[in-house]
Amino acid sequence: MKYVSTRDESPALHLGAALAAGLAQDGGLYVPQRLPRFTSADFDDRNNLASVASRLLQPFFAEDLLAHELDAICRETLDLPTPLRQLDARTQSLELFHGPTAAFKDFGARFLAACLARTRPLDAPQLTVLVATSGDTGAAVAAAFHRRPGFRVVILYPDGRVSPRQANQLGCFGDNVLALRVAGTFDQCQTLVKQALNDDALKRSIPLTSANSISLGRLLPQITYYALAALWHWRMHGEPLSFVIPTGNLGNALGCVLARTMGLPIGDIVLATNANRVLPEFFAGTDYAPRPSIATLANAMDVGAPSNFERLRWLYPDAGELRRALRAEAVDDAQIRDAIRASRERYGTLVCPHTATALRVLERMRVRGDERHYAIVATAHPAKFDSVIEPLIGAAVDVPPTLAALLARPSQAEPLAADYAALRERLVASSGRV
Ligand SMILES: *Cc1c(COP(=O)(O)O)cnc(C)c1O
Repeated sequence: MKYVSTRDESPALHLGAALAAGLAQDGGLYVPQRLPRFTSADFDDRNNLASVASRLLQPFFAEDLLAHELDAICRETLDLPTPLRQLDARTQSLELFHGPTAAFKDFGARFLAACLARTRPLDAPQLTVLVATSGDTGAAVAAAFHRRPGFRVVILYPDGRVSPRQANQLGCFGDNVLALRVAGTFDQCQTLVKQALNDDALKRSIPLTSANSISLGRLLPQITYYALAALWHWRMHGEPLSFVIPTGNLGNALGCVLARTMGLPIGDIVLATNANRVLPEFFAGTDYAPRPSIATLANAMDVGAPSNFERLRWLYPDAGELRRALRAEAVDDAQIRDAIRASRERYGTLVCPHTATALRVLERMRVRGDERHYAIVATAHPAKFDSVIEPLIGAAVDVPPTLAALLARPSQAEPLAADYAALRERLVASSGRV
């Protein structure tokens, strides 16, 4: 399998090289030259995430040096539970928050780290993984690379715009992880990372890569839990499972779209966004119009220019066909609050503000008469967002033990101006140390 750029103007690469490159030279995103096809029967002998993943991803690793490591990578990184919890007769919740940092970002970050660790020679100089985060990615990447020899992680996050527990998590790793709290927005953090990745002189002295949501190493594992959930549902009910997916940069939802295209029994795919409505507007028929993001309660989805949109356009070059393949609806903060309260009353379960967008969209669909089987995707544990949820319900949110262990560690982040010269200086001064 080779990977080509969505803009078609870069040479095709095997997986290892495409992973290391991140963005293609022409500015496009790497996509597989062709998608493999499966039937449900291809997985009849497989019933857990690691074993489904090793069959599903095998064609993506073919001909690459990593191919013979795939089983080990899946066993090592995808050994996390992904339960489908029943909410009512026709509604389930696909819980993707049982990893070390309690959000679905753990799947991608762990898989990417395991791939990169196996492609880097032992005597290679330290690789700096630079990551801008609106909350959850930074902690997942930090956890995945924490104390891995040959790597350090530098996290940039917008000071004051992540939840207190997210901030705590970002700063609690120490060792080879440096957390920088930036006086600016997430968009500014992302711009700083891009500037560093385009700084050839810097990259000559400090080998640099990114772990952002366009990384192939994050996208591939995000196909696998949709495949497993759809197979479970198919075996039980003999019909496809549809999904409502909280969406920001479109990485998680793209995993679901790819699984369906590859032949897994998946029905409708509905994107739920927060008040950043670029996708709902596009799917309602207007031109794609990226713009600056606005801050919402579902902060990990505060995205004004979804970075994986270009991959969706590659998959569906015809806009009309794309609009028939997916739908998208927006949910504002007041409706997020409502959905959090309603979930507790109706299902006896708490949801994070991101998951709440999916619940709210599904509720609208039910009112319109859609009776099919749906899974909403629960992207983070509610305990990460206690500062939003507790005032709404007047009660404490239980903290899972892995999250509690992280939160108990001392946490430290250094301030940084939203200024490229300041970042560059900080990267150079700390290189080889953190
Ligand atoms: C990152 C994130 C999302 C959005 O996922 P995308 O892949 O960017 O669409 C949704 N919910 C949570 C909790 C997240 O951390």
